[in-house]
Amino acid sequence: MMQEGGADMICDVSTIVNTEGAQVALEGCLESVELACDIEVIKASVSGSIANSGGVLVLEAEVSAEIKTSCARCLKEIVMPLDFDFSETLVLSGQETDADADSVIFFEGTEIDVGEIAINNLLLNVSTKYLCRDDCKGICPKCGKNLNEVSCDCDFFEIDPRWEKLKNFK
Ligand SMILES: [Zn+2]
Ligand SMILES: [Zn+2]
Repeated sequence: MMQEGGADMICDVSTIVNTEGAQVALEGCLESVELACDIEVIKASVSGSIANSGGVLVLEAEVSAEIKTSCARCLKEIVMPLDFDFSETLVLSGQETDADADSVIFFEGTEIDVGEIAINNLLLNVSTKYLCRDDCKGICPKCGKNLNEVSCDCDFFEIDPRWEKLKNFK
């Protein structure tokens, strides 16, 4: 029912789309998906179900992902876990619904592209700033050394722009 690998994760809902209360399990995996600039999903497993609830389909899933990005301070490549749940309401295109059109996903036919929905939810849950560790010291702005690995003898006061300004008040 589900294809493995890549970003394809198609779920066939033909057996539940006309049967209230019916549900199908979903289980799939995304691999090597470029999510945003400098954020790559190495692997994301998606598991859950799609259930016919009152004529609409409710997708509930758990995502457990590993993402590759760079530390916001020292730029070192890091791999971070990203785990979250999401739920979406899926409505057959053209079908009448009381649900707010902005909060539902319309689909056609009997195949749901769960991969695409999961990627959209990964984008919503990813942080814009990851650090290799909470106390990352970053890169010396003067000599460019990674201060987590080495210390340098640079005089930070000299290059602090506030001090530069003060020096000009002569
Ligand atoms: Zn860092
Ligand atoms: Zn330095």
